[in-house]
This record gives sequence, C-alpha cells and structure tokens, in this order.
Amino acid sequence: MGCDRVQLVGTVSFLLLLSSAQGWGKDGHAIVCKIAQARLSTAAAEAVTKLLPESAQNDLASQCSWPDDVKREIPWSSSLHFADTPDSVCSYDDSRDCVDQRTGIKNRCVVAGISNYTNQLLEYGSYTDSPYNLTEALLFLSHFMGDIHQPLHCGFVSDQGGNAINVLWYNETQKLHHVWDDSIIETQFQKFNDDLGDLVDAIQINITKVWADEVEDWEYCSNNEISCPAIYASESAEDACKWAYKDASEGSVLEDEYFFSRFPIVNFRLAQGGVRLAAALNRIFDTQYPVLI
Ligand SMILES: [Zn+2]
Repeated sequence: MGCDRVQLVGTVSFLLLLSSAQGWGKDGHAIVCKIAQARLSTAAAEAVTKLLPESAQNDLASQCSWPDDVKREIPWSSSLHFADTPDSVCSYDDSRDCVDQRTGIKNRCVVAGISNYTNQLLEYGSYTDSPYNLTEALLFLSHFMGDIHQPLHCGFVSDQGGNAINVLWYNETQKLHHVWDDSIIETQFQKFNDDLGDLVDAIQINITKVWADEVEDWEYCSNNEISCPAIYASESAEDACKWAYKDASEGSVLEDEYFFSRFPIVNFRLAQGGVRLAAALNRIFDTQYPVLI
C-alpha cells in the first residue's frame, strides 16, 4: 500500500452516519496521543505546538477526539474511521475493503484517511498558504492512527464492526464495539483503581526501545513509507477474529474471563498506536528523523 494522495477534500454527502464509525472512546484516543506526544523529536514537537489551537495548551491528547465530534458537520469523514472486512475474513485488503459501503466510493476508509492526511502534513513549511487546513490534518491523522489500532475498526461489515452485537458486559447491556472502544479501558480503571494518567504510565513503562524500534520499523513496511496503515489494519482484522469476536456473540455474558484475557490486547494496541503516531509525526516534521528504507 503506497501513500498515494486520495482526493477526499470537498466531497460532501448527506447520507446517514454509520454507527460503526465510533473509534476508541475519548480515553483511548487520549492515551494514544499522550504516548505519541511524549515521543516526538524536538522539531516534530515544535511543529505540533504550532499547529495545535491555542486553547489546547500544547496538549495533543485534548484534541484527539475532535474528528468524532465533527462527523455530522463533515459527513464524508465518517467512513474514514474504520475499514471493515467481509464476514469471517481476518485480514485487510486494500482494493476490497477500502470503500464507503454506502456510496461504493473507493479509497474511503481509515487506511486512506491516514495516507491522505499524512500527505497533507508533508506540505508543512513548504508553502505560505497551503490549500489544506494543517491543524485539521494533524487532528485527523492523530485520531485515525488511534482508530486503526482498535480491532473492531477492522471488524465485519455485516455487524458493523460489532455495533450490531449486543452483549452483557458484567451487568450492563452493551454493544460489543463499545466494549472495545470504552468498557475494557473503564473496567481497568475500576478494577485496578487507576486513572488515565496511571494507565498511560503503565503502558509507557512497557514500551522498551527494542520493542518500539520493531513496531516502527516493520521489515515489510518499506519503500520510504511514513507509516504502513494497511499493515496496521490487517493486524486489527486478525485481532478482531482472534480476540474481539471470539466467545462474544449476540447475548453473550462477558465478565472476568473475557476482560482479563483482552485488556492486555487493548493496551498493546494503544501502545502500538502511540509509538507509530509518534514515528509518523517525526518522519513528517523532522528531516533528521530516519524514514523507513
Ligand atoms: Zn474515530
């Protein structure tokens, strides 16, 4: 998958939003962005500071859910939050899966979203008046890099990435998609008496340099790519089959057995999202930072 520019700007449709386009909840997105911002090089950190609105007070995490807040104002963006696959297919295929299911328009999925906003951000510093709003591009890229690591963002089309599957999460009726967006993170806070900062710290402690280098520099992610979203989508599709959908069908009661075996997967994907977002921003904004070769 190359990072070819896709033309997403200016195409507005008024179709209903798909409910599968939710993403991690606010906490999940904030965790990815906190991990990423802490790993930026000096040049990349400066660019992010300049692009963030002043009200953000240089806190990328405070803005990372913005694309979820504007789906109604920017309806064409809703299909960019996910990339679902056919039933029981546990890998992502660009030509098959990167399509807006409502309109049939190709190159409308989270993989294309990441490529598109990466390309827009590469114009940073090269034009006095870029045709793009690079603040929005930064927020979209940061958000979509989180979304693509949520396994049910590459779930199945027929159940809208788990949105059409109702389960009992302990005592609470919940959509399976929501369990992965929010409930597994929230239950960690309750069971471990943690808050968001504690969870970020716990995840960061586990990010060793060797692990981060591996996550950033996939040997099969070559050709000078800034990032490799098609690979991240395939990982999510595999995790969706292996962990999210497994033992979780309509009416399932999900309790400790499911929670304790799945929360490490959630934390692992949040860590990968954060490390890869940082690597992408470093490659975009910092000419000193090595690209993938
Ligand atoms: Zn989203």
